[in-house]
Amino acid sequence: MDFKLTEEQEMFRQAVADFVDKEVTPIAEELDEQEAFTWEPFRKIAGLGWLGIRYSEAYGGGEADTMTYNLMCEELARGSLAVAATVAMQSLMGTDFIYRFGTEEQKQKWLVPALRGEKIGVIAMTEPEAGSDLGGIRTTAVRDGGGYLINGTKMWITSATVADFFTVAAKTDPEAGFRGVDLFLVEKEREGVSVGRQIKKLGTRASETSEVILENVWIPAENLLSDEEGQGMMLLRGILNQIRVMTGALSLGLTQAALDSSLRYAQERQAFGRPIIKFQAIQHKLAEMATRLEAARSLVYRATWLIDEGTPDTKISAMAKLFASETAAYVVDETTRIFGAYGYAMEYDAQRYFRDARFLLYGGGTSEILKTMIARELT
Ligand SMILES: Cc1cc2nc3c(=O)[nH]c(=O)nc-3n(C[C@H](O)[C@H](O)[C@H](O)COP(=O)(O)OP(=O)(O)OC[C@H]3O[C@@H](n4cnc5c(N)ncnc54)[C@H](O)[C@@H]3O)c2cc1C
Repeated sequence: MDFKLTEEQEMFRQAVADFVDKEVTPIAEELDEQEAFTWEPFRKIAGLGWLGIRYSEAYGGGEADTMTYNLMCEELARGSLAVAATVAMQSLMGTDFIYRFGTEEQKQKWLVPALRGEKIGVIAMTEPEAGSDLGGIRTTAVRDGGGYLINGTKMWITSATVADFFTVAAKTDPEAGFRGVDLFLVEKEREGVSVGRQIKKLGTRASETSEVILENVWIPAENLLSDEEGQGMMLLRGILNQIRVMTGALSLGLTQAALDSSLRYAQERQAFGRPIIKFQAIQHKLAEMATRLEAARSLVYRATWLIDEGTPDTKISAMAKLFASETAAYVVDETTRIFGAYGYAMEYDAQRYFRDARFLLYGGGTSEILKTMIARELT
């Protein structure tokens, strides 16, 4: 066993950490209040080439392994979960399918500029009445001449307001459940695509989330992101482990920020004539928070390492996402308690961590769904 990061990975992690301390953390609160897409840090991150870090050089990528990618996500989330979420959408879910299954022309037109941050790509799976149950989506893709006619409504779509292209889940066979789902490249410029209301959210407010309406949208047959129909779930399974470990990494970053903030506050805040960190009750909280974070980090890194070894493990990836996101929820709750009344004040960062952590419980699969999956793998 070797628990060390390589020299290259450590140097990259430090570079992202320095960037976050200088460019993200100081404006995180302001971005949260603006509730708008975070163009400023996003463009700087694009300029550093980090949006394409996990893709091949042929498309302007950095050829990095999953560990390096997740270290970036972890560090960004330490500064702002909203910024990290928009970057993750652009650098993984919003671009991966076109990278793997788009035509060369589509890649040159959409992927290459997306990795430079010039075009925005997002994924549109969830619907008003179907989230965890992807087989229950109602959006349809019906063959029409040399292409498909798409109709449906998507919900909770990250960065839809600023998006240029969507990877849309739609049913080519409405009767077939999961097996009827396919993925399509839908460019926003196509007639019939519109972005509906933006959802007012509890947390990750600097990451915009909206409804997307697809009304008689015609797309050519080559926009089906696979060789044949009925492959959507299989394509998705191809990156599900990566999405889960990435969400685990986001959880680590947010948890680290909450722990650091708690430690600082506990050393500064005085009660009964001494800093509150001198009270054993507070020390035990901090010890428990730090221990759970380290356990989560070990699990997320192990799941990531398995992916890089070419032996991804669905159960371990699900456990990593489950444990890391639940750890984040636990730690941010303890943070607000350590802050006392100031954990309830909008001028301190504890409340933002508390709000933002809730997102981690849904994105990448809910805890209930993950537990069901893990249990299935046990038997
Ligand atoms: C901030 C944010 C951004 C998002 N961005 C995107 C995006 O960009 N693109 C996109 O497509 N989606 C996005 N989503 C949607 C997200 O993927 C879904 O919220 C998630 O899949 C859960 O679906 P749901 O909210 O409809 O919950 P539901 O599936 O309705 O679940 C409701 C509850 O029932 C439980 N439940 C459901 N089924 C079962 C079962 N079989 N067994 C046990 N319990 C069950 C769930 O665990 C949960 O507790 C985003 C969500 C949020 C909050």
